[in-house]
Amino acid sequence: MRALEEKIRQDGQVLPGNVLKVDNFLNHQIDPQLMFAIGQEFQRLFADKPITKILTVESSGIAPAVMAGLAMKVPVVFARKHKSLTLKDDLYTATVYSYTKKTSNQISISRKFLDANDHVLIIDDFLANGQAVEGLMAIIAAADATLEGVGIVIEKSFQKGRQLLDEKGIQTESLARIKAFADGQVVFA
Ligand code: 5GP
Repeated sequence: MRALEEKIRQDGQVLPGNVLKVDNFLNHQIDPQLMFAIGQEFQRLFADKPITKILTVESSGIAPAVMAGLAMKVPVVFARKHKSLTLKDDLYTATVYSYTKKTSNQISISRKFLDANDHVLIIDDFLANGQAVEGLMAIIAAADATLEGVGIVIEKSFQKGRQLLDEKGIQTESLARIKAFADGQVVFA
């Protein structure tokens, strides 16, 4: 997606450890026009799938997921990373190792919001080693729901997440694919 690549070139900062900082349009401050266009693009890419629900992880997946939900006219559920006082029992949970924080988190979704009738699209901000997506896939499997595909805003193709999803035969659509970081610059695939 051209507009996204331009935004990454303009505003993205390459940090040590192969981390791209995009906190002025995606991870902290949010660019609503760009997110709206991202939602439309996901709708176009998955138009032939019978999607009933979008799943993401708080917090950075929520903005693109909500815009995709708006375009597809389906609800969006985000997995919580922290225990909530109002969300105690009847949870699907999975353990996810965080690429950026280097810690493991439990993620959870209420059983109320996912069941065997659901056809699910996973949306996330980044795909690195695929741990976040795998956690959501474990939850989808536990609910006996059907995974229809994975939509990613920024994929770091040189890390193992993309290959992992390809090997499982999952339709994975990334709106920007980064081949490498070279001298602090982003090289797109
Ligand atoms: P994975 O689970 O695929 O290894 O990593 C994906 C998750 O880690 C994303 O949900 C995102 O929050 C975070 N992440 C991974 N790589 C990056 C990165 O380069 N920049 C930012 N801002 N977040 C990242």
